[in-house]
Amino acid sequence: MILLSGGTGTPKLIQGLRRIIPDEDITVIVNTAEDIIVSGTMVSPDVDTILYLFSGILDTSKWWGIRNDTFHTNNALRKMGINEKLMMGDADRAACIFREEFMRKGASLTEATLLLSEALGIKAKILPMCNEKVDTMIKTPDGVLHFQDFWVGERGTPDVQEVEISGIHEASPTKEVINTLKNEDNVIIGPSNPITSIGPILALKGIKEILKTKNVIAISPIIGDSPVSGPAGKLMNARGYPVSSKGVARFYGDILDVMVIDDKDTMNASDFDIRTVRYDTIMTSVEKSQSLAKNILKLFSGIYE
Ligand code: GDP
Repeated sequence: MILLSGGTGTPKLIQGLRRIIPDEDITVIVNTAEDIIVSGTMVSPDVDTILYLFSGILDTSKWWGIRNDTFHTNNALRKMGINEKLMMGDADRAACIFREEFMRKGASLTEATLLLSEALGIKAKILPMCNEKVDTMIKTPDGVLHFQDFWVGERGTPDVQEVEISGIHEASPTKEVINTLKNEDNVIIGPSNPITSIGPILALKGIKEILKTKNVIAISPIIGDSPVSGPAGKLMNARGYPVSSKGVARFYGDILDVMVIDDKDTMNASDFDIRTVRYDTIMTSVEKSQSLAKNILKLFSGIYE
């Protein structure tokens, strides 16, 4: 099973999916357009969340960082007048340093991530979407901000005029991503931010064409007229899409076979051009995530086999 993922909604779904299928059978293609250098070390927030989830150390109260991590380095830097852009725990930083060491010796982001996966005892395959640096940039009335400066620095408050994924046209999906997609029929687009988490993956050359040949089920991160969490609504508006599950379906377009919408959603099946299915998609517990994952797997076997 392949999933396309950001760093919050889809990881919640994966948490439940892991209770049903073995990690060895899961590949996650992860957004890297929010990667950023913090105090000289590259942080790949979405990839790191997925890594920590599979190694059983993720702080699932926040969906980032390592459970019970300490913040000695972050605090020491603050005392010296450096306020880091992201709160980075010590063990979290160690993992990022590990990856960066291999990259410094010439490994690609993918190779270094696979080595980090191995070091963390992970059996799932976690693939950054590309090896090139791409950056989500948010245009606001006061200037252009990197996504992390917009979301973490400014807490998502500025008005958003445009979203640009800088560098995406020069980037390519990795050979590992392409090979994995060639060898699997079923793809889940998890309930992640369509614009900043899934959009960059879909914008990579050739990905949409491959996905059109696959069985693709997406889960809406938007219920009614607002996202479950985060800035997806504001960003979809800025891109000219309605903030609704229908807007999400429109953004994904003809790669989709089925759109899973929440059973509390105000949209109806007749609002969509594609098949929709309604489930409870609010994953407030592992049990709820597992139940949603089970329904999605049933959907694959019911429709495609
Ligand atoms: P990010 O990388 O941290 O922005 O995380 P993602 O893009 O993976 O996930 C953010 C999106 O997940 C938001 O748009 C939320 O609306 C959505 N989300 C978070 N939790 C849930 C949930 O329990 N159910 C659904 N349907 N969506 C969720």
